[in-house]
Amino acid sequence: SAKNGGRGQFRFYSADLKDEEQERQLLLDDLREALAAEQLELHYQPVVRIKDNLVVGMEALMRWEHAERGWVSPGLFIPVAEDSSLIGPLGDWALHRACRDAMEWPDTVRVAVNVSARQFTANGFVDIVSDALQASGLDPDRLELELTESVFMGDSEATDETFRALKKIGVRLALDDFGTGYSSLSYLRSAPFDKLKVDKSFVDSCTQADQNSAKIITAIIGLSKALGMETTVEGVEAFDQLEVVKARGAELVQGWIYAKAMPQSAILQHIESGVFRIEPSGPEKHRPDRR
Ligand code: C2E
Ligand code: MG
Ligand code: MG
Ligand code: MG
Repeated sequence: SAKNGGRGQFRFYSADLKDEEQERQLLLDDLREALAAEQLELHYQPVVRIKDNLVVGMEALMRWEHAERGWVSPGLFIPVAEDSSLIGPLGDWALHRACRDAMEWPDTVRVAVNVSARQFTANGFVDIVSDALQASGLDPDRLELELTESVFMGDSEATDETFRALKKIGVRLALDDFGTGYSSLSYLRSAPFDKLKVDKSFVDSCTQADQNSAKIITAIIGLSKALGMETTVEGVEAFDQLEVVKARGAELVQGWIYAKAMPQSAILQHIESGVFRIEPSGPEKHRPDRR
């Protein structure tokens, strides 16, 4: 029933629909309609330079407020879209919108857009990136595409060619959720990434006594630097975590201690006379079970 079905669950639609596949199909239909009816939004989460609180980038994160279910998590609807061809148009929409929104920000602020493997490996992806840049007028260097290791699971020749074409256009490439998944370092040997994003899971446990997460953060930042890449540490919520990642060499942080993702209207209110800074604010200590 509706009362039992919370955010991130399939149970909302009907108690009779036991079949998960049918429920995915319903969600997919609603998502397709929402895209057509322009009911999807992009919110933006700042990436902050620790030393001076300057916002150097913003990650576009998709948001969907369903008429009956309320906010549906992208952690739920993106995988459903990825299992269908809808991820193509959904991702293309996000690229266009993000480039357009970024034109209203100071030109020192980059925009990062998540790209699914299926979208990345589809024919015509490079053209869509070009179109989004051309339609908006955004400088290619201000667009960062966030990819995960799943882009390496397919045809490696085609993937290499797409990488080359994107670098030729001049956009930046970031490897998201680094350290989870298969984390084969051979990807870093040949793929032209400009940035690594340290996965939140290492930050979650970086203040714990065993210290392995903190050491892994040090190692990832060192690896990234050695290869000439930038590093963003994701998911910092509390001051004790900020201290640890800072001590471990982090320069760029994206996390609730600075800001959650906000709609474009709120972003524009934060930008004053061309500058956007955010002070950290949050709990002193991270409590793992907090939500
Ligand atoms: P991601 O790309 O790794 O994005 C970071 C996620 O971590 C976001 O979740 C963000 O809200 C969350 N986050 C950031 N800082 C903190 C923090 O301090 N604490 C906590 N608890 N969470 C934090 P969100 O917005 O729910 O997105 C989840 C995932 O959905 C994204 O992970 C990304 O994989 C996917 N996604 C979102 N938007 C898009 C999109 O437009 N296209 C594609 N392909 N995937 C998207
Ligand atoms: Mg991302
Ligand atoms: Mg991530
Ligand atoms: Mg993720």
